[in-house]
Amino acid sequence: MLNQKGGVGKTTTVVNTAASLAAMGSRVVAIDLDPQAHLTIHLGLEPQTIDAGSYKVLIQSANFEKEIMLVRCNLWLLPANINLVGAETELVSVVGRETILREALKTAEDKFDYCLIDCGPSLGLLTLNALAAAQEVLIPIQPHFLALRGFGKLLQTIELVNRRINPRLKVNGILLCMFEGRVSLPNEVKADIEQFLNKARGTNCAWAQAQILPVYIRKNIKLAEAPSYGKTIFEYAPSCHGSEDYRKVAEFIHNQTQSNASTAESAEAAEKCPIKIVEVANTNTQDTTIKVVTAKPDAGCEPDNQLERP
Ligand code: ATP
Ligand code: MG
Repeated sequence: MLNQKGGVGKTTTVVNTAASLAAMGSRVVAIDLDPQAHLTIHLGLEPQTIDAGSYKVLIQSANFEKEIMLVRCNLWLLPANINLVGAETELVSVVGRETILREALKTAEDKFDYCLIDCGPSLGLLTLNALAAAQEVLIPIQPHFLALRGFGKLLQTIELVNRRINPRLKVNGILLCMFEGRVSLPNEVKADIEQFLNKARGTNCAWAQAQILPVYIRKNIKLAEAPSYGKTIFEYAPSCHGSEDYRKVAEFIHNQTQSNASTAESAEAAEKCPIKIVEVANTNTQDTTIKVVTAKPDAGCEPDNQLERP
C-alpha cells in the first residue's frame, strides 16, 4: 500500500484487508515499514515493547521468519518500533540498501499466500525497499481536491523502480478510501483518475493495467475508532459499512490473484505444450488438410484436431 500523502487510508487498508484475507483461510504476513508503527499499534501491540521487527531485518540482517509474530489466526506481523526512524540514515552507505527487504523475504515467499506492506507517507529508502520487494502496488486515495497532487511523482518513482530494480512491479489498482459517493467532488476526482489511467493503456509503463477498484471504502467512523482498541474492523464492529467494504476489497484481491495464477498456469502449460499447425498433402483429392497438433514434451507431436481446408 503506497501513497506518499499522509492519512489517506494505507494502514487501515493493510490491517483490514490482511485480516479479511486471513479469515478467508489464506496465510498472510503484514509488514510495518512505517516508523510511526501505526500498523503495529492497530493490531494491538505496543511498539515500545517490541525488540524484534522490521528495523532488525533491515539493519541487522535478522532472519525475517524469526522476527514475525503470529497476531491472529493465519495472520503474521513484522512489527515496527521507534528505531525504524533512524534506519534510512544508518543504511546510507550500505551497498544494495534498496533490496534488503527483498533478499530477506526470499526464503519466506513460499510460506505465505499474501504479503502486505504498509509504507509510511514518504518516498524514501524504506518505501524503495517495499517497492523492490513487491509485485503489485495498490494506491489508496482519499478523493478530495488535492488528491492528485503528487500522484505523478508517485507513479514516476514506481516506474523508475520498475525499470531499474524490480521489472515485475506494477500498479495494480487505486482504492478510493473515505469515499462519499453522494458528493460531486469525489466523483470528479474519480473521473480524473480514470482519464489519466486510460492514457496509459497499451503502453508498457508500470500502471498500464491499473484500474480504480470497483469496490471502494466509504467514510465510516467505526474505522477511525477501531485502531484505538487495537482491533481490526471485523473484531470491533463486524456489521458496519467499513467491515462490509473491506471484506469486498479482500474478495476482489483474492479473486484477482486466483485468476492471475490460473492465467499464468495456462501460459506455462501452453509454453510446455506448444501448438503447431502442419499442412499435410492429401494425395487422393489434391487438397491439403491443416492439422493442429500439440507438441507434447515426451510423447512427440500428436494430432488434436483437423481442419479441412475448403
Ligand atoms: P499515514 O500516511 O500517516 O501512515 P495512512 O495513509 O496510513 O496515514 P490511515 O492511518 O489508515 O492513513 O488513516 C488516517 C485516519 O483516517 C486514521 O485515523 C483512520 O482511522 C481514519 N480512517 C481511515 N479510513 C477511514 C474511513 N473509511 N472512514 C473514516 N475514517 C477513516
Ligand atoms: Mg499509515
